[in-house]
Amino acid sequence: MSTKNTSRRTFIADAAKTTAAVALSATVIPALAKITNEKSSYLVKNIPYSQQPLPYGYKDLEVAIDAMTMEIHHTKHAAAYAKNLNEAVVAEKVDISSVSLESLLGKISKYSPKLRNNGGGHFNHEFFWQSMTPKSSLKPEGKLLAQIEKDFGSFDAFKTKFADAGKTRFGSGWAWLVVSSDKKLVIGSTPNQDNPLMDVSELKGTPLLGLDVWEHAYYLRYQNKRPDYITAWWSVVNWDVVTKRFEETI
Ligand code: MN
Repeated sequence: MSTKNTSRRTFIADAAKTTAAVALSATVIPALAKITNEKSSYLVKNIPYSQQPLPYGYKDLEVAIDAMTMEIHHTKHAAAYAKNLNEAVVAEKVDISSVSLESLLGKISKYSPKLRNNGGGHFNHEFFWQSMTPKSSLKPEGKLLAQIEKDFGSFDAFKTKFADAGKTRFGSGWAWLVVSSDKKLVIGSTPNQDNPLMDVSELKGTPLLGLDVWEHAYYLRYQNKRPDYITAWWSVVNWDVVTKRFEETI
């Protein structure tokens, strides 16, 4: 680390501490509180309509994603999707007390582009935050690893295929690992803020892992080098959460 970056790094670290504290002090709804006790993870069926506190600080994923990117991504980009989603559900008279976000996305063709873009944007980001941890095991175990090896040949072959899905997604979008309706693991990608839960999506299934490949997710550190961001990202994948999501499907 060169000395010329010291003050900038100190500033970022201080800013991250402050904002992480603010994020963690946000009101936690009762349904989430229960799940938060279980290793701070919630699963596909439990993603609320509002933005939730991150389970780590903005600087905690530095090995892959810098603190400033995390902060801007969470407090600006993702926050805007949540705000716009809540405007859209009011305007389109969706009763969010009785319709889960997951089931709403499953019939998103009936709603406006605003609800599609922001419902997807909010779901995808909450899902993404929960898919990462500063203490990654780097590799799954047990049934999930066995299924990955069965469907892709090896864990390394899976990583290559998933990374390729992210690298080749033209423009903005997401790479995904999903469980298909016939219980196979499938890798693919979606454009914009679409996701595999949506009835309009070409890739369909229950998502286990999603990677944001929009430039806003990596540009400050990686600029045009999306493949380098993807390579680094493996070091923060939360395989415990991915495994829980997989276990929900079997
Ligand atoms: Mn994003």
